[in-house]
Amino acid sequence: MGGPIEAFFNALAKYSWRTLVGVFVAAGAFLFFAKPLGVETWALPWRGYLVGAFILTATILATHLATAVYERLQRQHDRRIDLRMVAGSCTYSTWSINVQPGGKKPMLLLVCEMNFAHYEDYSVILRDAYLKGTRSVLPTADLTVEGSCDDPTMLSIGVSPIKARPGKPLAGRLVFVDQFNDPHLSGKLTFRPNTLPTQFHANRLVTVPNCVFCSQPVTLESQAKEAQMTAHTACIWP
Ligand SMILES: [Zn+2]
Repeated sequence: MGGPIEAFFNALAKYSWRTLVGVFVAAGAFLFFAKPLGVETWALPWRGYLVGAFILTATILATHLATAVYERLQRQHDRRIDLRMVAGSCTYSTWSINVQPGGKKPMLLLVCEMNFAHYEDYSVILRDAYLKGTRSVLPTADLTVEGSCDDPTMLSIGVSPIKARPGKPLAGRLVFVDQFNDPHLSGKLTFRPNTLPTQFHANRLVTVPNCVFCSQPVTLESQAKEAQMTAHTACIWP
């Protein structure tokens, strides 16, 4: 490249993106709209330079744009809330069976204690919670985590399908969804079955003898031991 052209390109490189946009648009206009602009004869001898300037500014602007998009994505990725959680005593971690609100379907009710903390300078709001591999079926109030010194929280999470098996402990991870719709996965938790005493079921069967799911009478033997209401084991685990 000759001296003046090199100087021109050097000057271009030092200018801001606004100048680059200006050169890009001007060079493009001269190249593609020389005739309607009435500068055809004027632009012709400069065609080589115009093509060079057009391609160069287009390349620089495309690079700038790609970098800006990449940095923005990177910033958004870094901005994800770093929510920490420590499970409370496992003696509180239980599962039982209840009824889904507004439907005659069983619901797996998980109860546990959890400590939440974060370093953000705003409150983190947990809008949804469920066991990994299930979905939430019990609307829960938003849980606000103020910062690094929050008290432990007792959680009651109603999910479907019923991943627990009768009489067996259930292991799994909880997913908490924050106000930005980002999920946060807990460590592995073990929920033990909250088996109600036989006498409790026997007493209730006297006053509420029919299954909430199929409306048929339930015997003490066919009553689901982890169910908090009258229900056949076979109606919960078909
Ligand atoms: Zn039933």
